[in-house]
Amino acid sequence: MFSNGLSFLTRAVFPQRCLQCNVVLSILEQSLCQFCLCSAPRLDSIAAQRTMLLSSTLPTRKITSFRAALYFTGPVQIYCYGLKYGGNYSLGVVLGKHFLAPLIVSTLAGQRRPVVVAAMPVHMLRRLGRGYNQSEALARGALQGARAAGVEVCFEELLEKTAHRKSQINFDPFQRWNNTKGALRTTKKKRVPKDALIFIIDDTVTTGSSLLRAAEAVLHDYPKIEVHLLALAQEL
Ligand SMILES: [Zn+2]
Repeated sequence: MFSNGLSFLTRAVFPQRCLQCNVVLSILEQSLCQFCLCSAPRLDSIAAQRTMLLSSTLPTRKITSFRAALYFTGPVQIYCYGLKYGGNYSLGVVLGKHFLAPLIVSTLAGQRRPVVVAAMPVHMLRRLGRGYNQSEALARGALQGARAAGVEVCFEELLEKTAHRKSQINFDPFQRWNNTKGALRTTKKKRVPKDALIFIIDDTVTTGSSLLRAAEAVLHDYPKIEVHLLALAQEL
């Protein structure tokens, strides 16, 4: 209550502006205005199918969906940059709530099953430098949005990095796939309900190799679980 009051006062004195269009935000908005959120470039159905096809490259067919919400173009690049390098944790929560929670709700399609949300891990050193894990910020937002829609959902730290890998920015698809090999493992066993759906969340997807490796690691330890992969943005 007190912290809400404090934030209200702070916002009244130092109004926050939209990261994209610079308009002054209302007290109910965080990081982005409603107009920018609504006009973000959502993936069309053809691009969405392309993302889904990424999961068919794995030998296991237990990944039941691989979806991204947005195209990694113009404004979305600003969001991802702000999230990764701008120290803007609350932006991740807003994006997760607005773009990823609806994908969780639509995947469930009315089924009342427990949902576990997990984030792609970042190495401890990178987390220290950034102050947080950007995928976890997205996952926390997705959790809030899904709960608001009546879904029974919890967050678990299911995955961890085993090595500090090189940044993948300048790698071709083959190098990316090799670079992610063995880089992830599950943390010690968590209590995941047998009939749960696990959603693993990442910020951007290019070849999908990191998320597919994460799914492999989770399926190795929870072979009966249904795994879904979600990314904020698809690079084309
Ligand atoms: Zn705006």
